[in-house]
Amino acid sequence: SSLYRIDGWGAPYFTTNPSGNISVRPHGSNTMPHQHIDLMKVVKKATDPRSSGGLALHLPLIVRFPDVLKNRLDSLQSAFELAIRTQGYESRYQGVYPVKCNQDRFIIEDIVEFGSSFRFGLEAGSKPEILLAMSCLCKGDRDAFLVCNGFKDAEYVSLALLGRKLELNTVIVLEQEEELDLVIDLSKKMNVRPVIGLRAKLRTKHSGHFGSTSGEKGKFGLTTVQIIRVVRKLRDVCMLDCLQLLHFHIGSQIPSTALLSDGVSEAAQLYCELVRLGARMEVIDIGGGLGIDYDGSKSGETDLSVAYSLEEYAAAVVASVRFVCDQKSVKHPVICSESGRAIVSHHSVLIFEAVSAGKQHETTPSDLQFLLEGYSEEARGDYESLYGAAMRGDGESCLLYVDQLKQRCVEEFKEGSLSIEQLAGVDGLCEWVTKEIGASDPVLTYNVNLSVFTSIPDFWGIDQLFPIVPIHRLDQRPVARGILSDLTCDSDGKIDKFIGGESSLPLHELDSNGCSGGRYYLGMFLGGAYEEALGGVHNLFGGPSVVRVLQKDGPHGFAVTRAMMGQSSADVLRAMQHEPELMFQTLKHRAEELSSVLKAGGDKGNDKLVVASCLARSFNNMPYLSVGTSTN
Ligand code: PLP
Repeated sequence: SSLYRIDGWGAPYFTTNPSGNISVRPHGSNTMPHQHIDLMKVVKKATDPRSSGGLALHLPLIVRFPDVLKNRLDSLQSAFELAIRTQGYESRYQGVYPVKCNQDRFIIEDIVEFGSSFRFGLEAGSKPEILLAMSCLCKGDRDAFLVCNGFKDAEYVSLALLGRKLELNTVIVLEQEEELDLVIDLSKKMNVRPVIGLRAKLRTKHSGHFGSTSGEKGKFGLTTVQIIRVVRKLRDVCMLDCLQLLHFHIGSQIPSTALLSDGVSEAAQLYCELVRLGARMEVIDIGGGLGIDYDGSKSGETDLSVAYSLEEYAAAVVASVRFVCDQKSVKHPVICSESGRAIVSHHSVLIFEAVSAGKQHETTPSDLQFLLEGYSEEARGDYESLYGAAMRGDGESCLLYVDQLKQRCVEEFKEGSLSIEQLAGVDGLCEWVTKEIGASDPVLTYNVNLSVFTSIPDFWGIDQLFPIVPIHRLDQRPVARGILSDLTCDSDGKIDKFIGGESSLPLHELDSNGCSGGRYYLGMFLGGAYEEALGGVHNLFGGPSVVRVLQKDGPHGFAVTRAMMGQSSADVLRAMQHEPELMFQTLKHRAEELSSVLKAGGDKGNDKLVVASCLARSFNNMPYLSVGTSTN
């Protein structure tokens, strides 16, 4: 497992077990460290129709562990409670989950349920998000915040105000100055006293990719000039008491606590200034940015890692707010954070399969029978030079002559003087020689039953790396190194960068007689945040299947509490305005029209039925490759 740095990025949830498989510790390592779920057993159960209770889902598959989600929430809460206790902070922590990180219904419902004892709330950034947050929070604690961020129109503001009528704790955070008029107007019309927050544009800037939202030129938030105007306007309409929350967000994956403290201190000063100006301030909302360690290095030197633990993060926040407020004799505010990545990343694993690996050394000397027959004088000369170099054991010259011979023969082929057999003879010879002198590229291409664009869009879009590891055979030495090539007809649909700065991944040989029936399963870890919502349907590869797995019945037991097949071809076609039912009828009708022709051509009598069932199966199946028996 050290090959894949699992102990670094995986702790405390992922490890390897004596069978060589990945084990999931759903409750982390502090609580119930003996509970382990073998990920391969989960995959077997989810995909295999023959195993007991097998669900026959198709891959790719997202396996969700709500216990991990709960552990993340509990750990975040405990980290802040510890910092508050040890530093004598005189208020509390009350976080929210930004639903944009993963809007899956069951994740949100779980978060609301798991967090209700400590009033954990939600953050929304659009109208559908506020709708889902409002309805989910009806089942949560009444004091849980519903932080309403994002660009707002009258409809959005009305929804947030309606939320207060429904006794939900909605806070309208002004991202733009113009939103204030809407809030003042609509709250009067709807006769609701709003709770208003404002998002400040901080000067503190984080320099990584995710820091582009921060700094004076950042996309969001109000400048000091705008903040002053907002305060004056609210005072003028006797609503300054409604301004209760200060929000900022310096970017995702904040690399160090030094930067964090810098930002929080600046915001705390603003908070104290708002208190001085007469707002009835209660809450400082420090946004997201609590990072996770994708590469296990804990260095904080790239976007892939952070140099702090949950406890250190919480301690830095509490200390910074406390220091500034004490200095200004301001009552300690409630600290709210909008951590998304840190809450949901760990709880889901994307499982996919390598279906083939490009073999490189397929040529044998017996393939080379065409050589020397009918080649030009020049090509024969190149061949002889190559032969001489090979006899002398001069690898460098061999490579030179290989290039020369190939180039010449390609030109001759283009001119029409060489046949495809002759060109194949040269290509085969060159491949064989390259292999014999040990100069062939040792990196293989593993074809995986996945779309990078659907399931790992951040890899394609922003070069975000995630740990990718075979989830079994970890007790066997990988024999090859490979890159992963996906199913899409797009040259960007490949993964050729891996954590640790590697350009290939150690991988096992695909083996048709192995204990896993020749199937080779890989897992992409820490992808629970952002990937699902951002993923598109390039080439019409839709969303993967999903199972929800709870630890149950003994230290290694588990139960699948929800299973959903991924989007079918019909689903993705529908999403692009096609009408699969009509398409089916059109094709079926065509088969009926041609039925006599098909019969005359020797087709079986029930050709219409064969066509219809073949079509129906294809519309209903997922668009990915059907591999092996369990995915048919
Ligand atoms: N809050 C706001 C306003 C954001 O823009 C984001 C994401 O960038 C978050 C919270 C969540 O950030 P993270 O996933 O880094 O915790």
